[in-house]
Amino acid sequence: MKRIVIATQNKGKAKDFETMLSPLGYQVLTLIDVAQDMDVEETGVTFEENAILKAEAVSQALGIPVISDDSGLEIDALNGEPGVYSARYAGGAKSDDANIDKVLEKLDGVPDSERTARFRCVLAVAAPGQQTETFSGSCEGTILHERRGDNGFGYDPIFFVPAQDKAMAELQPNEKAEISHRGNALRKLNDSMPAWLNEDK
Ligand code: IMP
Repeated sequence: MKRIVIATQNKGKAKDFETMLSPLGYQVLTLIDVAQDMDVEETGVTFEENAILKAEAVSQALGIPVISDDSGLEIDALNGEPGVYSARYAGGAKSDDANIDKVLEKLDGVPDSERTARFRCVLAVAAPGQQTETFSGSCEGTILHERRGDNGFGYDPIFFVPAQDKAMAELQPNEKAEISHRGNALRKLNDSMPAWLNEDK
């Protein structure tokens, strides 16, 4: 079985990657499996900068190829917020619930037609001695007035996907993978998978 290390502590992201990579014959490992104490500070101001930062730091520290994921939600009525600050939008602790409450509060009174938003994801692939590569994906939708569904993580319960007529959190994991920002980025990565990432370990 081929193994891939995803440079994240986020269990929701890990589950998304497992859904997408297991059928391709990969065992997905995360920092929780290989370097539990490792937390890279995200000092970049774009998804791409942060993705590269995380992938290179973890790959150098562990001496192996890794994929990192930097992602977030951009809401047009909030001038692109929470953007790269999506994980900690409501403050220091990373709380999905508090983040959702803050978004709903800020959008109080904003009509449906102005609640457009998108998820963005940048994947960076880094390995010792290799040029880091990035792949990006997005997913368009609107912000609901209340939570719907129990699947997924983060802002999934308030993100409505018009093409599916459902909230992201109402989609099954494989349905989310087909349309999500992460799925779209991973399909691009898969199309030009660097040879050094695809070796049996
Ligand atoms: P990062 O660890 O800085 O990339 O933070 C990503 C944050 O963006 C997550 O903690 C979520 O709040 C949000 N996010 C990213 N991808 C998704 C997704 O697929 N669904 C819901 N929220 C997401």
